[in-house]
Amino acid sequence: MSKNHHKVIIIGSGPAGFTAAIYSARANLSPLVFEGNQPGGQLTITTEVENYPGFENGIMGPELMDVMRKQAKRFGAEFAYKYIERVDFSKRPFKLFSGKEIYTADAVIIATGASAKLLGIPSEQEYMGFGVSACATCDGFFFKNQEVIVVGGGDSAMEEANYLTKFASKVTIVHRREGFRASQIMLERAKKNPKIEFVLNSLIEEILGKNENGRKSVTGVRLKNVKTNQTTDIKIDGIFMAIGHKPNTEIFKDMLEMDESGYLKVKNGSTYTKIEGVFAAGDVADKTYRQAVTAAGMGCMAAIDAERWLESQE
Ligand code: NAP
Repeated sequence: MSKNHHKVIIIGSGPAGFTAAIYSARANLSPLVFEGNQPGGQLTITTEVENYPGFENGIMGPELMDVMRKQAKRFGAEFAYKYIERVDFSKRPFKLFSGKEIYTADAVIIATGASAKLLGIPSEQEYMGFGVSACATCDGFFFKNQEVIVVGGGDSAMEEANYLTKFASKVTIVHRREGFRASQIMLERAKKNPKIEFVLNSLIEEILGKNENGRKSVTGVRLKNVKTNQTTDIKIDGIFMAIGHKPNTEIFKDMLEMDESGYLKVKNGSTYTKIEGVFAAGDVADKTYRQAVTAAGMGCMAAIDAERWLESQE
């Protein structure tokens, strides 16, 4: 087992993690960033980012993350394409575990972000990437002139459904009740789109598919009407999950304070968690805004909080 010590370790590689890396590298804290399973975070599965200040004509999500990573590297931040499986914050230095390796740090910045929620049925896993997706901007292109379903009744579902009509011949929004969480403007836009239909009070009971010579594909879904309990099979080519996001906080359970949805709690107006020396920034600690720019802002706050806290310990 090897042991690697750093003053600051950052877990996560979205705008929060990379901004924390830029700031802590410039403060001579030689941070190590664990990029995790999705280097660059959620923006790497989007297309154009039009609302990140400083890019008049927009910038592609993956490019934005690449630039941020390079900017942090320029000041000496190190990057590891590894996933932290476990942490021990019970005493200092803090311990972080990845495979057989143990890393230690005086301060840790958690910027593990959030991931798309899934239904949790086995057929969803089976056809993930073969007709099941949680990212319309990534996979919409593959459904030219085909029929797809979007699951959910929030703004994401409306946005994804509208986006998918650029490719698909028909988009059916399947929602589990009659009321919508989506804002009125987004809902109206979806309702006005001639390619979009709604199926309400319905759940996806099963995703149907076939496997021909090792080539898996989705062929339809079994819907269950929650009012009548009736099931209906309908033919579709793809299904997009838009049922919200969950913060990536599993490994901090029983260690750090979280709200009822699992978002890390930080002290008001700061990035301090209840454990001194452990800071949280970005979507993992922000249920409200969840924007690239707010995550970057929190990443900056976390680096400054960590720097000042480390100074106070000397
Ligand atoms: P959300 O508002 O939490 O909506 C999730 C939807 O999925 C809800 O309709 C929910 O149904 C449904 N759902 C949850 N779990 C389900 C399950 N297991 N099976 C079936 N349906 C399920 O999430 P979101 O749409 O991702 O939006 C999150 C935030 O981002 C919101 O604040 C939203 O305004 C914002 N956002 C904004 C924009 C924009 O302005 N352009 C775009 C996207 C998102 P119930 O309603 O029955 O709970």
